[in-house]
Amino acid sequence: MKKILLACGLLASSFVVNAQQEISYEVSFPNAVHHEAQISMTIPNVPTGALKVRMSRSSPGRYATHEFGKNVYNLKASDQNGKALNFKLTAGDVYEITNPTKTVKVTYTVFGNWIDGTYAGFDETHAHMNIPATFAFPIGMDTRPRTVKFNYADKQNWKVATQLKLTGKDTYYAPNFQYFMDSPIEIAAYKTASWEVKNPDGKIQTIHLVSHSNDEQSTIDNYAEMLKKMVTEQVAVWGELPNFDYGNYYFLHDVLPEYAGDGMEHRNSTVIVQRTPKIAGYESNLLGTFSHEFFHAWNVERLRPKTLEPFNFEHSNVSDGLWLAEGFTQYYGNLLLARAGFRTSENAVQGFNGIVNSVLNSPGAINFSPIQASQYAVFADAGVAIDQRNMGNIFTSYYTYGAGVALALDLRLRSEFKLTLDDYMRALWKAHGKPEIAYTMSDLEKVLAQLTKSTAFAADFFKNYVHGKAKNDYAKLLLNAGLVLRKASPNKAYTGFGRVNFEGGKATLGQTIQGTPAYNAGLDVDNVLISLDGAEIKDQASLTTFTDNHKPGDVVEVKYSYRGLEKKTKLTLAEVPTLELVSIEKTGGTLTPAMQTFRDNWLNSQIKK
Ligand SMILES: [Zn+2]
Repeated sequence: MKKILLACGLLASSFVVNAQQEISYEVSFPNAVHHEAQISMTIPNVPTGALKVRMSRSSPGRYATHEFGKNVYNLKASDQNGKALNFKLTAGDVYEITNPTKTVKVTYTVFGNWIDGTYAGFDETHAHMNIPATFAFPIGMDTRPRTVKFNYADKQNWKVATQLKLTGKDTYYAPNFQYFMDSPIEIAAYKTASWEVKNPDGKIQTIHLVSHSNDEQSTIDNYAEMLKKMVTEQVAVWGELPNFDYGNYYFLHDVLPEYAGDGMEHRNSTVIVQRTPKIAGYESNLLGTFSHEFFHAWNVERLRPKTLEPFNFEHSNVSDGLWLAEGFTQYYGNLLLARAGFRTSENAVQGFNGIVNSVLNSPGAINFSPIQASQYAVFADAGVAIDQRNMGNIFTSYYTYGAGVALALDLRLRSEFKLTLDDYMRALWKAHGKPEIAYTMSDLEKVLAQLTKSTAFAADFFKNYVHGKAKNDYAKLLLNAGLVLRKASPNKAYTGFGRVNFEGGKATLGQTIQGTPAYNAGLDVDNVLISLDGAEIKDQASLTTFTDNHKPGDVVEVKYSYRGLEKKTKLTLAEVPTLELVSIEKTGGTLTPAMQTFRDNWLNSQIKK
């Protein structure tokens, strides 16, 4: 009893200390119709010297730098009695209060009309807040707790949904800066469905589907049933659910046709924005993002690359680990929908086909390693550029490339070690995910060596296929499951023109890709095709007729113009490089019992009945 009292006393005094340190925000939406929110931030116990307050330039899970400061205006600073304090701009999004008082209050307007996993959106139907896009913060106070209070009494039936901890009426709490920035908030007249999940250790947690959409409650309930099945299949891979921080996990779901489709993972929640008119009728299309994002609750939220730690809000982190953090998540996102019965194995095979084509045929994967592809995310992940970029020749997405590494490793573990990629994920979870010890590339290699009991295999795999640009023998590996990888259009002629724009009676080329006949012939973006061996090219039909009447190896004369000047070049037609992945049964071959077993063990449900 005494001990308990003492503990209470300690708790109370630590609360007092925290309250003195706590940064508190208040948010209201008087001009939501014009997409504005009003924010105030109160900082107590400001140390002497200049105080810098800024907006973030990055957002958890988004790997490129974004300028959130551009949507902030009317910023004012005052002491606790409302007396104005002077400040200067030391960068576009950094406000330096030169002589701060003990308590400083900062108020500003923030504009937001982009509903996705990164930005903010305010209107009469909801307040959709990703924290870095919405909340300014003082520099150097990362360990201080935060509270945020929402005022929305003027809105109809709005409710708050967030992974932040509820501590009072419409007031939420984050233990520190990093947790706050990771905790998106949706306030809307949403519908919800929840279910409990029990971990092997007996701990019960709750998963919530929060949907801001034009659907009936029965649709939300049915959809939650589907998610429940998907979640169970995911738990079978990892062996258990993560320990969610306050015992809850939230799918924060917006269904709005006007905005970009997106999904963004967080520790105990995910923001998912989808572009269908509603959920009803589109359930199975929507599941892919849910599956991908939920897999992140383990992979990247807790099983985390060292290069993302701590998350840098002033300039986005460059990471070597996204081929695993995103690529393996991409691989499992689709595979688990097949295992859960929401995709046919034929769908799953088509997914693998896309991955293999991209890994074997794109210059980004041919010339760069999965680690280099990961590092390019700082420019590629919704990074905006007005200049032309050479993406087609230097970048293969770490989602696809990493999924290719996952596919190859899964098939190699199965065929060479009688293990599976699930075994590897569980081993990584035990060594790095559950204890939350961020990993390096050599940590990943070490766990693979321990699992396979082969340091030689792990060293070779990482040297050649992760740090290097070598490609696994996908044809041989896939044949284990009775899948045949072959040329999709053998002996068919290929120009490599890519997507030609036929507007205004002109055939204009886009960026050409290394290794293609068009690239080798010196053709490039904005070249206008005039004729091929004298045959005029003015629409897709004339181009198709031309290639149909030729064969690989034919040399043709290309007349084209560039910036108004007519030119000529010779182009050697190649064979269409596209690969197709088909079941051996469809090729007239025999599916052996061993192949059937391999395929079933791989693609069928892993839930122990
Ligand atoms: Zn992801």
